[in-house]
Amino acid sequence: MATVTATTVTATTSDLLAPEPIDDPGAHRVLTGDRPTGPLHLGHYFGTLHNRVRLQDQGVEMFVLVADYQVITDRDLADRLAEHTENLVLDYLAAGLDPERATIFAHSAVPALNQLLLPFLSLVSVAELSRNPTVKDEIAHSSQAAVNGLMFTYPVHQAADILFCKADLVPVGQDQLPHLEVARTVARRFNERYPHADGSAVFPRPRALLSEAPMLLGTDGGKMSKSRGNAVALGATEDETARIIRGAKTDTERRISYDPENRPEVSGLVLLAALCQDRAPGAIAEEIGDGGAAALKRTVTEAVNEYFRPMRARRAELGADRGHLRQVLRDGAERANVIADATLAEVRQVMGAI
Ligand code: ATP
Ligand code: MG
Repeated sequence: MATVTATTVTATTSDLLAPEPIDDPGAHRVLTGDRPTGPLHLGHYFGTLHNRVRLQDQGVEMFVLVADYQVITDRDLADRLAEHTENLVLDYLAAGLDPERATIFAHSAVPALNQLLLPFLSLVSVAELSRNPTVKDEIAHSSQAAVNGLMFTYPVHQAADILFCKADLVPVGQDQLPHLEVARTVARRFNERYPHADGSAVFPRPRALLSEAPMLLGTDGGKMSKSRGNAVALGATEDETARIIRGAKTDTERRISYDPENRPEVSGLVLLAALCQDRAPGAIAEEIGDGGAAALKRTVTEAVNEYFRPMRARRAELGADRGHLRQVLRDGAERANVIADATLAEVRQVMGAI
């Protein structure tokens, strides 16, 4: 597969990252999720969704949550929440997550998960919450006039999302590493403060699993995001895909090269084609050479449309049955509630609550 170096991932984060390949799939549990703020895009797919499906198919136990409460961290209302939630499930199923093997649920449907937030919040300082770089970035892109309390506490909420099911692996994009660090801190401090009577720990220390595209760029050269109008949706039509990619920002140099440091926009497009064609980005850039931005965009459009064609067909088929999508969430919530209730009972017990 194409390789890309994540420049801001430093050596100090090495114990935060899970090694590849994963040995002993049966010994791990994965949790990841997405906010139902809009359709999933190529950044989700190559950043995390592809890894989820791969791990599921290797036999790792999988939990996928729709982070519906987290929608209101950076906006006043959760616009079209039910529709976005169903569409997330649709994207998951089209991408290959199997509800028989993966537990797919909305975290608002699992009360005990959310209750973990109370003891967890006592384990982090206000200063730690305020200096989280991803929270700062999201505040900068938020449409809200004032920053709300949920924005600062949502990394701790994510710790509850991960730890309720004692997940030890979290396939995420690079923007999530600061949050994973919070989840690890919460787990470590909880275990120190509230060990079992025999000294054993309640929670594992979860690790991130980054893909070869830990931060796919959008058409404006910034992180591809649902809320920033710079994304190609997984479910976009071929024409929409062509139009969006045609409008992508490039630079004035005609010759195409793969140089993420100095030419982020062009390199982001080259990488996208490389991921879709499972080739090295350098070889694709070389091939386009003096063809310039127009040839690059044609190559990317074809590569994306080709790669996602079967998934989009499956998406259209599955999308006809909305009742099935809701049933997937009900079944998932039922399974997740059993686990969350057990974890909360354990937490209350070690804390000495009656
Ligand atoms: P929003 O703009 O509403 O925050 P988003 O596009 O950032 O939406 P999230 O639901 O916040 O999507 O992120 C879900 C998961 O997808 C996270 O693990 C995140 O790291 C990953 N992800 C999101 N965008 C990208 C991207 N551009 N490249 C790689 N991974 C990404
Ligand atoms: Mg986000």
